[in-house]
Amino acid sequence: MSTPREEKIPFILTAISLTTAWDELYLNIVKKAASIGTAAGKNDGGITMDTKTLFNLTYGLFVFTSRFDGKDSGCIINTAGQVTDTPNRISVTVNKANFTHDLAMKSGIFNVSILSEAASFDTFRHFGFQSGRDVDKFAGYDSCQRSGNGLYYITAGTNGVLSAKVEQAVDLGTHTLFIATLDDMKVLSDVPSATYAYYHANIKPKPQAPKAKGKTVWRCVICGYIYEGEELPADFICPLCKHPASDFEKVVVE
Ligand code: FE
Repeated sequence: MSTPREEKIPFILTAISLTTAWDELYLNIVKKAASIGTAAGKNDGGITMDTKTLFNLTYGLFVFTSRFDGKDSGCIINTAGQVTDTPNRISVTVNKANFTHDLAMKSGIFNVSILSEAASFDTFRHFGFQSGRDVDKFAGYDSCQRSGNGLYYITAGTNGVLSAKVEQAVDLGTHTLFIATLDDMKVLSDVPSATYAYYHANIKPKPQAPKAKGKTVWRCVICGYIYEGEELPADFICPLCKHPASDFEKVVVE
């Protein structure tokens, strides 16, 4: 889905005012860059919309928990980060499809349990691969305690917990960006935090060995599940982690 440069230049032309020599110089640089890109037979100066680039961003992994009207729930997120230190503020982004998202919207409070390299795949399966709309994730679940705000946090496979109060909830369409101040926080262990890359390399199940060589298979990049077939149905849902077809990569078995 790369955007041809021809579509971008008119936007640049209209976005700046042509009042100074500097602007003209800038335009000449833009035009020269465009001609180089065309001469090289590339769009966007050689940069294309390779969405795999996003996998090179680093992320931690967290259990986002909240509670409202007597209901507790939690889900896995990978988008928590500190944004200011006076006061201590974090931002998290949560998919609206998550039941815990709705609890946090209503209660205005949430906990972020920071997953460590000691986290098991069962923790990801428990909080990530089922919906709090269907099951009570804390029924019979022992690896948790309540923090001062009354919400659960996860005590197994985690190295810290942050208790947060929502300051702003920004509607991002599919997701809500919560900006929140921290009321409380606690270190739970000295095991390093699990990054998304660590999860892929060490925690998620190893990809299954396809049965036959010379075949095309589709591998779920989230959990490693293998779908055997030339074409993956567009509406396919991973039976293991419930992620959509867009999270599968095509692999030709040598
Ligand atoms: Fe999967």
